[in-house]
Amino acid sequence: MQKVELLDTTLRDGAQSEGISFSVRDKLAIVQTLDALGIPLVEAGNPGSNPKDAEFFASVKTLKLQHARIAAFGATRKPNTAVADDPQVKSLVSVGVPVLVIFGKSWDLHVTEVLKTTLDENLAMIRDTVAYARKHSERVIYDAEHFYDGWRANREYALATVAAAAEAGADTIALCDTNGGRFPEEIAAATAEVVKLLGKRAAVGVHTHNDSGLAVANSLAAVRAGAAHVQGTLVGFGERCGNANLSTILANLQLKAKCACIPADCLPQLTMASRRVAEIANIALPDDMPYVGTKAFTHKAGMHMDGVRKCSHSFEHVPPDSVGNARRFLISEIAGRSAVLERIRKIAPSVQKGDKVVDALVAQLKQLEQSGYQFEGADASFELLVRKALGTYQPRFTLEHYKIVGERPARNDLEGATAIMKLSVDGCSEITAAEGDGPVNALDRSLRKALDRFYPTLKDVRLTDFKVRVLDGNRATEARVRVLIESTDGRAIWTTVGVSTDIIEASWLALVDSIEFKLTHDQEKPA
Ligand SMILES: [Zn+2]
Repeated sequence: MQKVELLDTTLRDGAQSEGISFSVRDKLAIVQTLDALGIPLVEAGNPGSNPKDAEFFASVKTLKLQHARIAAFGATRKPNTAVADDPQVKSLVSVGVPVLVIFGKSWDLHVTEVLKTTLDENLAMIRDTVAYARKHSERVIYDAEHFYDGWRANREYALATVAAAAEAGADTIALCDTNGGRFPEEIAAATAEVVKLLGKRAAVGVHTHNDSGLAVANSLAAVRAGAAHVQGTLVGFGERCGNANLSTILANLQLKAKCACIPADCLPQLTMASRRVAEIANIALPDDMPYVGTKAFTHKAGMHMDGVRKCSHSFEHVPPDSVGNARRFLISEIAGRSAVLERIRKIAPSVQKGDKVVDALVAQLKQLEQSGYQFEGADASFELLVRKALGTYQPRFTLEHYKIVGERPARNDLEGATAIMKLSVDGCSEITAAEGDGPVNALDRSLRKALDRFYPTLKDVRLTDFKVRVLDGNRATEARVRVLIESTDGRAIWTTVGVSTDIIEASWLALVDSIEFKLTHDQEKPA
């Protein structure tokens, strides 16, 4: 089995993505997630670049890690400066992590037009910095920035830069498609050339970006051409269109190309780890992300469902549990009785085809779909519906009433609306009020506040997505709306639905399902 080493740069390149800002705690949680998944190298920033990074490096040393080694990242020295006098290099080597990643210029254009120095001086900068870093660490990886663009523009020079890094002591040379513009065949040709050039002196790696939608394909092309080290971010976060998605790459390599990237028994953690990283970054994981998205093993057409039931690989490229994901059959009129029965059996395995409850549910589903409900994207609401039909559903609370007061202009961002609510849990009444930036937000806050002391696990639940669809727009302001709410507790993701002519009512219905779903599942978990 060919071994391919992975380096995750979610904390460094990923953090350069628009909309992402990690606290020190977030970063530590990501390190632990990647470690549990068996990722061998986790790259963070330069401790000298900001106080947050310095605090991170101090704290990360206290973590007990099983698989991951931490790498710090910095640039080659400044032109015409002694390496030992360069403050950026000094702060990098002082951090005391085992692995240092040094990046430098490989494209002549960047040397002369951006750095404004000579080609020879740039080679000296690479040599000096790599050698100095090597003296202060166990291992140096050299990132050849813009290597593939440089290889097209001035091949001889691009190759000279990587040879310089290898001679100076870097054991791995990562070739970068920094602008994300290259094609797999170019990546393969250039990588093969460097593999041949360096021979046993250094391993070759690859670092790609997704600007042409080819980051994964380009990484795989490099591996086929002899690269033994792949850099990327677990769920593809990164500048512009993102870095190479490591979750896709590692599943492809491990399941299909017979390469070893992480320990085999860690692979079923892939989905959970990916969702957790997205959760920490507070970014909704695209549901169609290969292998790990919620739609990755979802079937809607009746014929496909039938095929999967008879022989799962008839419509699935790998078994969903190989990466810790789950198969889903969507519920809709297309799917019909057998899909409904399948879903019921997940909750109540003893239900049979001829049971009355199946007919009752199919009929109820038709009626609800006619009134605007759709359960294809709302598994959790469907599950509650089944439980109600089976008589196993127990409401965790009863609403007495709620009232919403809007205020315009809002006094500040969080005080546009106030929700007052009265509800009861086991005969115990609770009255709360909460403000929010709008009526739905105020309702959500008020409901949690009311339930907090009865159900402390609700603290972990966050709404991650909120979608509103107008169903019969021709009825203007009388139109019905369908609200879909996606929630997570950091481990599972579930979606609920509500329909009404009143958008707040529709949101309330979806919100209540979300909370009920969580509480129902919490209660079923063994203590
Ligand atoms: Zn990058």
